[in-house]
Amino acid sequence: MKVCVIGAGVIGCATAYQLARQGCEVQLIDAAQAPGLQTSHANGAQLSYSYVEPFASPATLRALPGLLLSRHSAVRFRPRWDWRQWAWGLQFLRACTARQSLSGTAQLLQLAQSSRVVLAQWMRDEHWDFGFAENGKLVLCPTADSLRHQERQVRLQAGMGCTQEVLGVQECLDKEPALRGATALQFAGGVWTRDECVGDPHRLCLALVESVRRMGGTVSLGVQAQGFVRRGERIAALRTGVGDIAADAFVLAAGPRSPQLAAPLGLRLPIEPIKGYSITVPFRSGAVRPRASVTDLGRKTVFAPLGGQLRVAAMAEVGAMGLAVPARRVQAMVEAVAQTYPDLCVLNDPATWAGLRPATPTSVPIVGRWRGSNLYLNVGHGALGLTLAAGSAAALSQHVLQPA
Ligand SMILES: Cc1cc2nc3c(=O)[nH]c(=O)nc-3n(C[C@H](O)[C@H](O)[C@H](O)COP(=O)(O)OP(=O)(O)OC[C@H]3O[C@@H](n4cnc5c(N)ncnc54)[C@H](O)[C@@H]3O)c2cc1C
Repeated sequence: MKVCVIGAGVIGCATAYQLARQGCEVQLIDAAQAPGLQTSHANGAQLSYSYVEPFASPATLRALPGLLLSRHSAVRFRPRWDWRQWAWGLQFLRACTARQSLSGTAQLLQLAQSSRVVLAQWMRDEHWDFGFAENGKLVLCPTADSLRHQERQVRLQAGMGCTQEVLGVQECLDKEPALRGATALQFAGGVWTRDECVGDPHRLCLALVESVRRMGGTVSLGVQAQGFVRRGERIAALRTGVGDIAADAFVLAAGPRSPQLAAPLGLRLPIEPIKGYSITVPFRSGAVRPRASVTDLGRKTVFAPLGGQLRVAAMAEVGAMGLAVPARRVQAMVEAVAQTYPDLCVLNDPATWAGLRPATPTSVPIVGRWRGSNLYLNVGHGALGLTLAAGSAAALSQHVLQPA
């Protein structure tokens, strides 16, 4: 079976790899000159298997006015003259119920647990070097209220297979001694999850692509998908800048650009870009490095030790389109590092990055077949694409390979 996978971000690379493992003749295409240069390039590096709570929840709904109106909020809304954005917004508001949040948590945890198992199997077979480490994660809650919310979530998730501990302030500092020197860090306690992991998303994309090639797959870079050639209910070919590509099946994995490619087919994908930023800074030589990843919920910022560097990711700008990195965003992340880990990093020349999370209103990705056609969707992984890539690839390959 020949399968054309559109998009070589972490989702498309993982899908191509899984399909090649299962004996498909794979062609992976991307408009960029290398894999993993868009949203999967320098994200928060978290394999966040237990922190999957959907963004849409009753708590988010209650906090929304404050989040949107505060000048210092880490969440922003960038309105556009586009009815699809407003339709997405309405779907998001409708998803802010306890019932939807619970069902989303359960679905995402299941996909995350499958991802952990599938990625472990891949790593055993391939021995990739992408900075993977099971270093644990500490989530710091700024207020007693947010700690209570996390406690409820921990109790709920305990029944769904997660092992997490709620800690007081001193216990958090014992868990991650590198936080002891922090200035201006205010928190009421935290949640510790021992088996959370980190990995470099870009290096994972490169490793997946190398394995796809080794298994006989084709990786075509610098190839822009322009649309689909339809024959009745089926897709006959993908139209690209270098000619049509015929295949038995097509997988759309173009991240935040997927809705534009799907729209001419009459397929409206409810995916909205949520922009975020990262900086990557080297550790000073001799500095005592953090062991764990830390999420400061007050700043909505994640700090991840990744080899000899600290990756810091922050901000959620709903609806922002471009990839510019304003100096004030970089400055805010640099200050967050200086205040959280004084003297840990060299901060004068951070590597900066912006990406667009391809978010669905419920935070649950769309993985499956489009109607009865030979087009398959692996899109909408929002803030969790690195975490969910392996499980989504395994699930998608079952749809592709099951007899029609
Ligand atoms: C600030 C930030 C922090 C994050 N932190 C984490 C984290 O810690 N853990 C986690 O699990 N997730 C995290 N995420 C989310 C994660 O990065 C995304 O969910 C994931 O990268 C999405 O992958 P993707 O393959 O769907 O999209 P992309 O990586 O954007 O890949 C899509 C690919 O399609 C290609 N493409 C698009 N249009 C076309 C076309 N017409 N023709 C050909 N090719 C095309 C693009 O060039 C691109 O390479 C974070 C995101 C952000 C922004």
